Amino acid sequence: MRIFKFGGASVKDANGVKNVAKVLQTVGHDNTLVIVSAMGKMTNAFESLVENYFQNKSEVKSTLSRILDYHTEILDNLFENKSHPIYEKIGSLVKELDAFFIVNKSPDYNFVYDQTVSYGELISSTILSAYLNEIGLSNQWLDVRELIKTDNYYRRAKVNWDATQEKITKKVDVKRLNISQGFLGSDANNFTTTLGREGSDYTAAIFGYCLNAQSVTIWKDVPGVLNADPRYFEKTQLLNQISYREAIELAFYGASVIHPKTLQPLQRKEIPLYVKSFLNPKEAGTSVSKGKDLDPKVPCFIVKKNQVLISLSTLDFSFIVEENISEIFNLLHLYKMKVDVIQNSAISFSVCIDNNYNNLEKLLHHLKAKFKVTCNDNVSLYTIRHYDNSAIKSIEKDKTVLLKQLYQETVQIVTK
Ligand code: ADP
Ligand code: ASP
Ligand code: MG
Repeated sequence: MRIFKFGGASVKDANGVKNVAKVLQTVGHDNTLVIVSAMGKMTNAFESLVENYFQNKSEVKSTLSRILDYHTEILDNLFENKSHPIYEKIGSLVKELDAFFIVNKSPDYNFVYDQTVSYGELISSTILSAYLNEIGLSNQWLDVRELIKTDNYYRRAKVNWDATQEKITKKVDVKRLNISQGFLGSDANNFTTTLGREGSDYTAAIFGYCLNAQSVTIWKDVPGVLNADPRYFEKTQLLNQISYREAIELAFYGASVIHPKTLQPLQRKEIPLYVKSFLNPKEAGTSVSKGKDLDPKVPCFIVKKNQVLISLSTLDFSFIVEENISEIFNLLHLYKMKVDVIQNSAISFSVCIDNNYNNLEKLLHHLKAKFKVTCNDNVSLYTIRHYDNSAIKSIEKDKTVLLKQLYQETVQIVTK
């Protein structure tokens, strides 16, 4: 069994869907399970729908009809026959969501979010499955909510591995071509849950693990894992081989090409993860597997933009001791700040954080009561794995360095 995952970028329009079919024709489609994400940026569109549902009810209908139009245009370019049943199927999925909005009584934002945003994947997988059937790639559409069972921590549900293993073993026909959704699961009451943004890579890994797959392939708009994000770096090199451990490190520091949760289930069963280009499916891409740490062994650059650097010192110039640090971390935890770098000296303490939940003002207000605080927002955090001097120079050359920290294999540099 092979698991394939196609992300939003690969199915952003009708040509993308046709290209998925071409990839399957090129690399084979038996004994295969395809996981697909919502089309293009549809998850963001569904997120604004939820926002409207809570803040701006009068906009719900028009946002929903924009979402339907986007998918209808794709259908128009995929199906000659304008009375193909797929039109009705997509229409009824949208109606189902509309009906949910009318009957829903729950004020729980995260619950409503999961019941809503999940339609992105339900629609994309329904379209892909119908198109593949239409062109003769016979396949089975599977509702992933009947396969992946989770707790009810909506928006960041945790997998119930035993229940999931049992369902997947029972319900997936490993001989066929199967099409299912990334990102989704369901709780004990069968309400839809989601696994966290960008979670479809993780879905592929869950299936890989439970089916003892021979491999998991994530098809991307890049040739594989590169030694730097091509959006920010001009010269990049393809990494042919990465060990699980090295890949976990890269994903942890923010190499967004692989969702960090993807690697652990695969490592446990030593299932290889291939990252390949959906435009050049015959190219080898990157293999994440047991073996060499990194080939070629070159410095790898990871950048996180829009970070916040906070430096604290005590008001009376006394030392920053364990008690202060524990207090600071309690606040960071309270305001859901992800801490990327920590540096401390006798009288000062600095943290570089990700302000994902817009809680910075509240955090600063709290900190200022106890410490002298300097805050630099909009800084960039560069992490270089396997650095050398010229790699460090290339980052520092035209920037102001605010903080730098060297570990054995890794250097982190915060710049303005
Ligand atoms: P998907 O469509 O599967 O969700 P993503 O957009 O999440 O795809 O991931 C692919 C993108 O990841 C690439 O277009 C690239 O900009 C970015 N990226 C970040 N770091 C790297 C890296 N080290 N190597 C390759 N791509 C990277
Ligand atoms: N569609 C979801 C998102 O955009 C999941 C994914 O694509 O991985 O976050
Ligand atoms: Mg993604």
